[in-house]
Amino acid sequence: MANPHAPVCRLCRREGVKLFLKGEKCVGDRCTFTKRNATPPGQHGLARRRRISEYGIQLRAKQRGRRIYGVLETQFQNYFDDASHGKGVTGTVLLQMLEQRLDNVVYRAGFASSRREARQLVSHRHFQVDGRAVNIPSYQLRTGQVVQVRERSRELEPIRRSVEFRGGQAVPSWLTLYPQEFRVDVSRHPERGEMETSIDEQLIVEWYSR
Ligand code: SF4
Repeated sequence: MANPHAPVCRLCRREGVKLFLKGEKCVGDRCTFTKRNATPPGQHGLARRRRISEYGIQLRAKQRGRRIYGVLETQFQNYFDDASHGKGVTGTVLLQMLEQRLDNVVYRAGFASSRREARQLVSHRHFQVDGRAVNIPSYQLRTGQVVQVRERSRELEPIRRSVEFRGGQAVPSWLTLYPQEFRVDVSRHPERGEMETSIDEQLIVEWYSR
């Protein structure tokens, strides 16, 4: 994400969907998207709603995917290029690559309340992969790899709060969580039904194939 201080709630209103970028706030009454009745941002937000072209639909799908995972434009393009050159259905492979980022797995495991927070925690070296500290949020995890909160970081307020807050929520079945050990294993690649349902990857593929 380019600017960590950018008003992220505007992005949800721009995309017309809750992107869950602010952790606990997103599921409560304080969610700006809910409070403002999902109007687009800006003084003329509502007036700006009009029929959207095919180009616009594809653009919004791409922006939505990029913003959900907090990925910059160039990096997102690189993911697409890699996905389109790899084996498998391009859209699915693209989503799998995004899901298997270290920051996303930290978020999915419940060690952070949002991907944004996960990204920051990873950058500050609070996680290990296969026993070694990794501070690269985009680190691409492979099947069989083990992610663990570093021992000295387990009492850290954001991690502790997130584990408490998300403790009752299920972890996707491509991950195996060991809560007592603050550890999550990547058991396999995620399947389509286990990834973000609010993203239309086909529209993203169409956008990049224009
Ligand atoms: Fe989006 Fe969360 Fe802000 Fe609601 S609180 S508008 S879901 S970022």
